[in-house]
Amino acid sequence: MKKQNDQIWDVIVIGGGVVGCAVHRKFALMGAKTLLLERGGDILSGASKANSALLHTGFDAPPESLELTCIQNGYREFMDIKDKMNLPLLQTGALVVAWSDEQLAKLPGIVEQAHRNGVMDVELIDKEEVYRREPKLAAGALAAVSVPGEAVMDPWSSPLAYLTQAVKHGAAYQFHCEVESGALEQGMWVLQTKKGEFRARLVINCAGINGDIVESICHPSPFQIKPRKGQFLIYDKAAAEDINAIILPVPTAITKGVLLTKTIFGNLLLGPTAEEQDDRWKAEVKQEVLEDLIRQGSKMLPSLYNYTVTATYAGLRPATEEKHYRIADYPEKQWICVGGIRSTGLTSALGVAQHIASLYLQNFSPLFEFNPPQEIIWPQMPVLSEYHQRDYQHEHNGGIVCHCELVTRREIEAVFDSDIPPECLGGLCRRTRAMMGRCNGFFCSNKVAEIINDRFENTLAVEVLK
Ligand SMILES: Cc1cc2nc3c(=O)[nH]c(=O)nc-3n(C[C@H](O)[C@H](O)[C@H](O)COP(=O)(O)OP(=O)(O)OC[C@H]3O[C@@H](n4cnc5c(N)ncnc54)[C@H](O)[C@@H]3O)c2cc1C
Repeated sequence: MKKQNDQIWDVIVIGGGVVGCAVHRKFALMGAKTLLLERGGDILSGASKANSALLHTGFDAPPESLELTCIQNGYREFMDIKDKMNLPLLQTGALVVAWSDEQLAKLPGIVEQAHRNGVMDVELIDKEEVYRREPKLAAGALAAVSVPGEAVMDPWSSPLAYLTQAVKHGAAYQFHCEVESGALEQGMWVLQTKKGEFRARLVINCAGINGDIVESICHPSPFQIKPRKGQFLIYDKAAAEDINAIILPVPTAITKGVLLTKTIFGNLLLGPTAEEQDDRWKAEVKQEVLEDLIRQGSKMLPSLYNYTVTATYAGLRPATEEKHYRIADYPEKQWICVGGIRSTGLTSALGVAQHIASLYLQNFSPLFEFNPPQEIIWPQMPVLSEYHQRDYQHEHNGGIVCHCELVTRREIEAVFDSDIPPECLGGLCRRTRAMMGRCNGFFCSNKVAEIINDRFENTLAVEVLK
């Protein structure tokens, strides 16, 4: 078989965040020969590894924007494919709760915008209905907007499903493969990476938090990434029973504010903040910020004080100096930029991929021939959702290794036997939830180390320190 470096690819996608995985899938299903190059040791090494994991309806997106179109197309396609690939969804709905007269006055406008955006089941509910649905909310709620279509996703298995489906249709990928430079030479992009040279007729920049740096390989970047950090707290599983819907604040002009939601893994999530920073990779949590988050969360749900925080994390939104998505195509340069997918990309990724495919079909003279598959393959993803059947409930699973998250030996081994084994410890944790529970790996890391012994280039100890 030809080495990936020796081939001429129809499309190279730079970046394996949720957007890159969805774009890669789209072109692979259309029948292009596609390669994805990812800097990290697994997919989701940037913004996509740390978000709120909500599937949005677009009720509050800017009307008539490309973002709204992509959110709604992405939502529809996700609903269409989720059962075919075993992707769990928790259909909780959301409530935008008003706690002051000023916020109360904004609720009709939120309903109006939702209807204008085509989300017609959004409605105003009164105080009595709020407490009937959410009896544990703090006193003082005045009314709410109900958004039945908002839902909770598994933020990791969905992008992995997109990449797996692409690979099942002949697409390829490389991890630990940062694109460092490149040049368009006689109608062919030659990209220089940590793993040598790769060639393609079309390059699609999906580098998220590095979007502007990668864009400058083609031309001076028309935008600058301004990372916007969001810090989160995860509460122990018992806390998730204290709410039913996603509890959203009334947004201000500056921020969408702090929300409360169940996670698909059965915890309760509180966050995020919105803090601008320069560093593109360091997503630290700060004690004083977390304490403030706890204060804000407990004002909405006083019972939070009864529960233990079991984890904290932060994610970096690939924001730019403008609010809208920075998508642009350059036919003469054989390049498409998918930048600035700031805060709705988990939902919109499949819709963004549809949009990129139509940009290519409409605006480019054909750079290659599509060879569409005869039949579409639907890979089955492992289910880690607390609200669905899990592997530990089935026989011959090799026993439970991580008792906090009930991860079996068979689940851990299956990751390494899958089409796309992770090449870093973070990837293994995200794909199995091993070491991600309340003990943070204190009890199971030894056992996990035994199982994964010699699967990574480094020992587990070195991986942890990286
Ligand atoms: C706090 C927070 C909360 C959010 N909540 C939600 C939500 O509830 N619902 C929702 O729909 N969206 C949400 N989002 C938004 C969503 O997470 C992002 O829009 C999405 O992850 C952006 O994906 P991306 O693929 O564009 O970028 P990224 O995930 O950053 O992916 C880019 C990838 O490119 C790789 N890369 C970078 N440079 C190179 C290079 N030179 N060579 C090769 N690879 C490279 C990176 O390693 C990375 O893996 C949230 C985001 C944050 C941060």
